[in-house]
Amino acid sequence: MKCIICKKQVIDKSINIYGIKICKCCEGRIIHSNMQTDFYEVYKNRIKKSIVNTLYRGVKFSDE
Ligand SMILES: [Zn+2]
Repeated sequence: MKCIICKKQVIDKSINIYGIKICKCCEGRIIHSNMQTDFYEVYKNRIKKSIVNTLYRGVKFSDE
């Protein structure tokens, strides 16, 4: 499975939310990032999209 943020292959010690993986590196970046930063926004959007895609697999969204 690949990290949702950086797309690198991740190992089992990573965060796993609804089958979505985040590597330790990106987890650290999220934890240390200010909520107003672009990175945090990118992270939020990716998580949101991935969770949506996971939960509603096969459903198409107009903004994609
Ligand atoms: Zn990563």
